[in-house]
Amino acid sequence: MKRPVALWLDYEPEERRPVRSLTVILRTTGCQWRKCRMCGYWHESSPDVTQADILDQLRYALTTMSPNEDFILKLYTSGSFLDEREISGGTRRRIAELLRQRQDVKRLIIETRPEYVSADALADLEEVKLEVAMGLETADDFIRSEYINKGFTFEDYKTAARVITDCGATVKTYLLLKPPFVSERAAIEDVIKSAGLVAPYSRVISLNLCNVQRHTQLEALWKQGYYRPPWLWSAVEALKTIKERKTHIILISDPVGAGHIRGPHNCGYCDNAVREAIKQFNLTQDMSILKGMNCDCRYRWELILKFDEFLFGAY
Ligand SMILES: [Zn+2]
Repeated sequence: MKRPVALWLDYEPEERRPVRSLTVILRTTGCQWRKCRMCGYWHESSPDVTQADILDQLRYALTTMSPNEDFILKLYTSGSFLDEREISGGTRRRIAELLRQRQDVKRLIIETRPEYVSADALADLEEVKLEVAMGLETADDFIRSEYINKGFTFEDYKTAARVITDCGATVKTYLLLKPPFVSERAAIEDVIKSAGLVAPYSRVISLNLCNVQRHTQLEALWKQGYYRPPWLWSAVEALKTIKERKTHIILISDPVGAGHIRGPHNCGYCDNAVREAIKQFNLTQDMSILKGMNCDCRYRWELILKFDEFLFGAY
């Protein structure tokens, strides 16, 4: 309980220049909702974690950073950072104090469900340059409630986003590419449309490519043959279109599990190259990296999109 679930170093696009980032997955009592069909993250939680444990986990993680380098700190809990039951107001204030003392944390990024966002909760992190990430997944209330079972509305997200902005923090919005029960083509269209609708509220849009986690409803669907994770071509297509339309937004996509059968994948031959291209795009925001990609399997993917039109379109 004194060590985080995981921590890793990476880079994060910041004003078009990559900056070092430290991601820390804190072990807490976990997400209270636990009903999203694709999410198994709450298995990483434990009812026995104390607030002192959480501070110890953070202190341990911070020892991995060299003192002379500015970095972005991503403090995730596999739940909601602003939920009192996971991280108390007192702990949040201690964390803010720790970060203020260091002066090398350029930005703190936390994740939360919108229902925990309030001016009071955000005041605990005062004087820290803060970004609040919310997993809206889609701007479509029907897909979010019926297919994902997320339990909040687009309106809830917008209200929370306004509170965050009023408190001087910025918003990072997660969108989910290919929720269950949505076809490949409809998934691309949904994520592009959603990006347009969340752009006015977001500094960063992060496209999460759906992967099949263990012990989830999505895994059961996948095992029965009722779900295939998105093609990486779909991710490329969505990233290109969103970036073209919303050039001012920082657009990223961490291709978790790319190339694996449970993760976003193409034919097997081109997966590594496409994954690396997406990672390069994340850091540079340069669309030409995505435009140059090709493989024989792209034709198959295009056919799948066409069949979709045939099955659900105006024929
Ligand atoms: Zn291929």
